[in-house]
Amino acid sequence: MQPSPIGRHTAPAGRAGPYAGKMTNPPSAAPARVGSGLKIGVLALQGDFREHLRAAEATGAQAVTVRRPAELDGLDGLIIPGGESTTIDKLARAFELADPLRKYIAEGLPVYGSCAGMILLASDIADPATDLSGAPQQTFGGLDITVRRNAFGRQRESFETDLDFKGLDFSATESGVAPVHAVFIRGPWVERVGPDVEVLAQVEPADPDHASHAVPLPGAARIVAVRSGHLLATSFHPEVTGEKRVHELFIRMIRGEA
Ligand code: GLN
Repeated sequence: MQPSPIGRHTAPAGRAGPYAGKMTNPPSAAPARVGSGLKIGVLALQGDFREHLRAAEATGAQAVTVRRPAELDGLDGLIIPGGESTTIDKLARAFELADPLRKYIAEGLPVYGSCAGMILLASDIADPATDLSGAPQQTFGGLDITVRRNAFGRQRESFETDLDFKGLDFSATESGVAPVHAVFIRGPWVERVGPDVEVLAQVEPADPDHASHAVPLPGAARIVAVRSGHLLATSFHPEVTGEKRVHELFIRMIRGEA
């Protein structure tokens, strides 16, 4: 390996690369339009990609569907929606998107995955589904985490709760940062995080809003939002509640402001 040239500027891991500093608008753009000048792709093979297109547009970004490999070119960031991770995995391979997407992630393309999207960004799945030939589902990877699918139980598969979410300081008022109202729909939780992964939010076992859930949370808090460099993932669906700040955080990550 070549030694680095002396004096070359090295930005913090995950904040540099070909996707940093591409935006055409200055960081002082009005918060509501923080995404203007950016082109955000939404993987549109299956799942609630329409809601993410709207959420990305609400930041002022140009939002486009991604179904073919060429549609990955020229993006400032990509969103992988909620849906069914096994179906998205199969379709991504059938559409020959999986390998190019892995390459883009490795090269630093910022990606946000919600729910099934979190599973598809995970390096490991604790309980992968298998196909008819017994082969386990695959992920695009990039995030050094182990997820457990449908982890909050199947009997009552959805719940809602308020979460303290790190990294949303840009939305602070005199009373602090408002909690994120999170909707979980057969969501995964994160069972292991690698050393470079920051935990952004957890569901607390004693949360009274969650106490009525059919499968009580045993013991520990459960990790439901993480970030590692240019990758962001949540177990829940901010795109269905009108919560704009998680998408705004993603935009700020792309801009190198978060
Ligand atoms: N349980 C789904 C899966 O494993 C994820 C659910 C969701 O995205 N709402 O892919």
